[in-house]
Amino acid sequence: MLKSAPSVSSYPLESTWIEIKKDVFKRNLWQLKKDLKGTKICLPIKANAYGHGLLQIARWAKEEQVDYLAVSSLSEGIKLREAGLNTIPILVMGAFQSEQIQSLVDYELDLSISSFHKAQEVQRLMSSFSKKARVHLEIETGMNRTGSRFETSKRIYDYLQKEPCFEIVGIYSHLALSEDIDHPLTKKQIALFDRWIKSCPYPHLFHLANSSATVLCPSIHYSMVRPGLLCFGLCPKELSLKYASCFSLKSRVSFFKVIEKGESVGYGTSYIAQKQTRIATVPIGYGDGYRRALSNVGEVLIRSKRYPIVGHICMDQLMVDLNQGEAYVGDEVVLIGQQGEECITVQEIAKLCQTIPYEILTGFNERIPRYVT
Ligand SMILES: *Cc1c(COP(=O)(O)O)cnc(C)c1O
Repeated sequence: MLKSAPSVSSYPLESTWIEIKKDVFKRNLWQLKKDLKGTKICLPIKANAYGHGLLQIARWAKEEQVDYLAVSSLSEGIKLREAGLNTIPILVMGAFQSEQIQSLVDYELDLSISSFHKAQEVQRLMSSFSKKARVHLEIETGMNRTGSRFETSKRIYDYLQKEPCFEIVGIYSHLALSEDIDHPLTKKQIALFDRWIKSCPYPHLFHLANSSATVLCPSIHYSMVRPGLLCFGLCPKELSLKYASCFSLKSRVSFFKVIEKGESVGYGTSYIAQKQTRIATVPIGYGDGYRRALSNVGEVLIRSKRYPIVGHICMDQLMVDLNQGEAYVGDEVVLIGQQGEECITVQEIAKLCQTIPYEILTGFNERIPRYVT
């Protein structure tokens, strides 16, 4: 009996696509606001908003009155400004190049200052302008990525304070082990940051906490938090049941065949059928960011059932062993997300690839279109 397909595609012209649930993302922001009770929110939307789509996420954040956006490159900042996101402050985190100063200021992006030398470079350029450079001083507390050491940062702070071309907006640092709040390094980082705040003569936006620290340690929320993954509903898994992922990765069965016992599937013959079986082909591969490490270990959902990926994942396609299961060309395939009672999470995929959810999410590239549902 041919059952009617349970999952007729909403996007008949697409083979593979990402769906972002607007209401779920907005509910996460609403939940965060509720939990924070007045602390400001800076939403990190670097790397295409963790793969969710930079501009869409930025617009929703603005609609929900998120206080700040943070990116990690000048070009991400420019994209936001050129798309008309003009009134919301945007911090470009990390270190900038000298050649980028002019554009950072022109596009009214907040600069992250972590060396005396860079502060002087900005000053030299700004002396011919009437406007001020908005800056956040980044302090080194233990991450050893960007940021100036305690004593130097005092000198930089005094300089920024003295030179009229600067507006000091914030003071910040970043935790190296935020999931372990009791670790000696985390304690040391928090102690150093506290010492800074206590010695600081003026109130600024003090910010330290990423997602894990926001959930685990309200005492270090200070005036603003910077939770990225949490707003996308993914971190830390066991503590964030109030937050849900808004990200699904879907495709459609493009081909179907029966193979005989002893036949192999795909490049390198890494899978050999132990009996006659049914193979479905799905048009997504490592060229889209669906990791090759999932070959012969990953699973997909078709008609609300889990099926194993067999053979090596190709650049543009992968194969699934349906065994006795049923699937037809055109059926929806869920690679990440919910179908019926079954669900494949980003965490599950990350674990199979021996990496973190961040790397999985940011790996899906421009070839996969993003749709809002
Ligand atoms: C990426 C980033 C964050 C957000 O981290 P999550 O773990 O996603 O919350 C916060 N601060 C800085 C400096 C970052 O680079």
